Parts: sequence; structure tokens; C-alpha cells
Amino acid sequence: MPLSWLPTWCAASMSFYVEALNLQGLARSHVARDCHDQAWGAFLTILTDKAVEAGRSVIAVDARNTSQLCSACGALVPKPLGERWHRCACGYQADRDINAARNIYRLGESRQALTWSTGACVA
Ligand SMILES: [Zn+2]
Repeated sequence: MPLSWLPTWCAASMSFYVEALNLQGLARSHVARDCHDQAWGAFLTILTDKAVEAGRSVIAVDARNTSQLCSACGALVPKPLGERWHRCACGYQADRDINAARNIYRLGESRQALTWSTGACVA
């Protein structure tokens, strides 16, 4: 995958939020192929390098329930991995990955708020 867009992307963003995945654990499971664990690990290395060059940060957030929690109301909406659409009783619905991305963003922003209030960078 060409990554020529990455420096521009890093310069335009303050921080990047990613799920803190256990890549070694995934590599030992059958899920490894589905998660493209090696490609994801390589991408995170490149993203981190480019973000640091641009004076930005990459913040890993807890991956638990990012696709199960409703990003609109916070309700737990259990669904199997094969179910790709998030549909909540509150009325919010979206692609499963979009819902998870919104949760990851919210978690990352909350980590930033904690970082700024103490004055120490935990990223
Ligand atoms: Zn909801």
C-alpha cells in the first residue's frame, strides 16, 4: 500500500488514536489472518514514525468493546464478529467499523484530556 499521503495526514492531525491490540496474542490465534496483524503492526510503526516527525502523537486506547458499545448513547450492544452493522435501541445505526472508530476517537480524546490536565504526556 503506498503511504505517500501519510506525512500530509500527520501534519493535518493533532493525534492519532488506535486500538491497543495484542498482536502477539492474535498471531497465535486463527484470527491472525483476518486481522492482518503483521501489516497492522508495520502500519503502526510507520504511522508513529511519521507522526513523531510531524510533532504529533499516536495514542493506543483499550480495545475492549469498541465495536460493542453504542457510540451515540454508550449502551452495550453485543453482536457477533460477522454482524457488520451496529443498530442500537437509541436509534443510532452505522457500519460496525464506523461505530468502533467513533468509540476509539472518544477514548483517545478522553486520554488527551487527562494528559492535558496533569501536564504530563502519557502517549
Ligand atoms: Zn445507542
